[in-house]
Order: sequence, then structure tokens, then C-alpha cells
Amino acid sequence: MAIYITDECINCGACEPECPNTAIYEGGATWAWSDGTELTSVELEDGTEVPGDEPQEPFSEEFFYIVSGKCTECVGFHEEPQCAAVCPVDCCVPDPDYVEEQDELAQKQEWLHAS
Ligand code: SF4
Repeated sequence: MAIYITDECINCGACEPECPNTAIYEGGATWAWSDGTELTSVELEDGTEVPGDEPQEPFSEEFFYIVSGKCTECVGFHEEPQCAAVCPVDCCVPDPDYVEEQDELAQKQEWLHAS
């Protein structure tokens, strides 16, 4: 399961530097697969190939947001999700629409960081 940031977010920014996958971005900021990862290109579900460093549209204009495809719930790095651990208003919570098992998260971590 990926973590997501709810609209309770106060935009304090505490979570962003804690993410080992650079999956957290400020509202309105573009994101890229290659930020903080080894991904040089990514094949999407529809077969489209995306350059890793191509800027992607933000998922939120208002609040910090998490790119689900880059979130491993911190598996491979830490015992617990670091964003949730530091959030002062507890708005980093499991995303029911993006459920993944531990082994899937571990594979995802390897995929993100295999050089
Ligand atoms: Fe990043 Fe970990 Fe939070 Fe996922 S759970 S967004 S990997 S800090």
C-alpha cells in the first residue's frame, strides 16, 4: 500500500526531505521518475515509454503530494513510513486505492534503485 497525503495537510514540508524515494513533492511542483532513483525510463501500463527525467504534472496544486508509483512505504530503507512518522497533523496515511503487499513493495524498491 502506498501512503497518500490527505487535505488535512498544513504544507509544513516536514515529510519531503524524509522520503528515501523522493516520492513527495510540494503542491504545484512537477515530479519525475528519476528524481532520487536510478530510473532512466519507465513503461506505463498503456505501453507508453516515458523518459525518467521528463517533468510530470503535479497530482495536487494545493498540498504536498506523494507519487504512488515511487512510494514503497519506506520498505527497503526504514521500519515504518518516515513521512507518517514526522507529520505533525498525521495526514500521511495508507492509500486504500493503492494496496501492495510487502514483497511487491520490496520489488518496487529494487526497481527504483537498481542501477
Ligand atoms: Fe516516501 Fe516512505 Fe512516505 Fe512512501 S512512506 S512517501 S517512501 S517517506
